Amino acid sequence: MSMDYMLSEEELMMVETARTIAAEKIKPIRRQYDEEEIFPWNIVKEFAQADLCGVYIPESYGGFGKGIMGLVLVVEELCKVDGGIALALASTALGALPILIAGTEEQKKKYLPNIASGKHLAAFGLTEASAGSDATAIMTTAIKDGDYYILNGTKHFITNGGEAQVYTVFAKTNPDKGARGISGFIIEKGTPGFEFGKKESKMGIRASATRELIFNNCKIHKDQLLGKEGHGLLVVQATLDKSRPGVAAQALGIAAGALEEAVIYARKRVQFNQPISSFQGIQHILADMATEVEAARALLYSCTRMIDSGKSKRTSKESAMSKYYCSEVAMRVTTNAVQVLGGYGYCKDYPVEKMMRDAKITTLYEGTSQIQKNEIALNLIKESAARNK
Ligand SMILES: Cc1cc2nc3c(=O)[nH]c(=O)nc-3n(C[C@H](O)[C@H](O)[C@H](O)COP(=O)(O)OP(=O)(O)OC[C@H]3O[C@@H](n4cnc5c(N)ncnc54)[C@H](O)[C@@H]3O)c2cc1C
Repeated sequence: MSMDYMLSEEELMMVETARTIAAEKIKPIRRQYDEEEIFPWNIVKEFAQADLCGVYIPESYGGFGKGIMGLVLVVEELCKVDGGIALALASTALGALPILIAGTEEQKKKYLPNIASGKHLAAFGLTEASAGSDATAIMTTAIKDGDYYILNGTKHFITNGGEAQVYTVFAKTNPDKGARGISGFIIEKGTPGFEFGKKESKMGIRASATRELIFNNCKIHKDQLLGKEGHGLLVVQATLDKSRPGVAAQALGIAAGALEEAVIYARKRVQFNQPISSFQGIQHILADMATEVEAARALLYSCTRMIDSGKSKRTSKESAMSKYYCSEVAMRVTTNAVQVLGGYGYCKDYPVEKMMRDAKITTLYEGTSQIQKNEIALNLIKESAARNK
């Protein structure tokens, strides 16, 4: 039995669909895709056929209209089996959210239906070699030239880079204005002057492509500007408020998958003439893992319901809490899963060593754990100041 989060019939249906794809299509290939760094286009087709690509996109743009909760439930379920393959879908959401948040009606109609159908993947291009946690340090420029902008610069570590068709990219339109001089753009693969650079070889999530985007006098029409000029960082912040629960869901799924593997193994593995699950030392590890997974889920789901209700203008604190907590839980739980499996846990015949490698990224991208804590504390202090003048 699991906790009752009062999921609707449609939500349960999405979970069931994701579970079937994970078990039947992803599980058999996860090890090979990890080892050989294969981008999972064949699985993207399965997501598309099952209508999972647009679960968070409103029905008016061809999606299923199930909000961030839809995304979270699907990503969690897929990541129970593999924490990297689901990123083709989850990082597309990260790339699409700026369009949903700040796009014009024309931009939404042009780009979202193809993303919802799974025809196109998307990507989000903010980070640069010298601008990670400090996004204001980006050096890519977009200089206005009549009805066009000319982009120059290199984005670093971009998930779905090279595979996606649609890129939401942030650049300095007014380099003298610092944080207020950044603007967002929608840029399509194939635009002259837009190319792909180095592809990273990574510790985990190896079936996910992480690549440089290179802009060399890339000329794009002003219709591709996303939101108002100079408002790019506001778009980034609003996007991260909605996308960080997606990373939290990835972390939660990986943790839940590792817990399941650890319990199964502990019941079967015999040492000292008894299953290791009969040792209190092992039972206590499993109890800690299960409790943390459930606490992470409760925090994530309530944060996500809060976002989808639209009642709060900003959910930065709650999104950061869910991302911070779920990702740290994922690291602890996957490390413990390896401990429960002993030496076998350290070897590739069992999936927990991969789960531990995949979990690590969730404490790093879309803001490291330290950056999440900065966000949480900043908001706590602001809220207190507003209550107690
Ligand atoms: C696999 C992968 C996929 C990625 N996908 C994308 C993507 O799709 N799009 C995109 O734009 N970016 C992406 N990124 C970039 C990612 O978001 C950054 O790597 C991350 O934000 C951290 O930046 P950094 O690596 O430059 O680390 P740094 O910012 O250099 O941080 C190094 C260390 O310093 C700490 N630190 C920095 N500032 C502070 C502070 N103020 N207080 C306390 N500690 C601090 C950090 O917590 C960290 O421990 C991806 C990265 C990876 C590895």
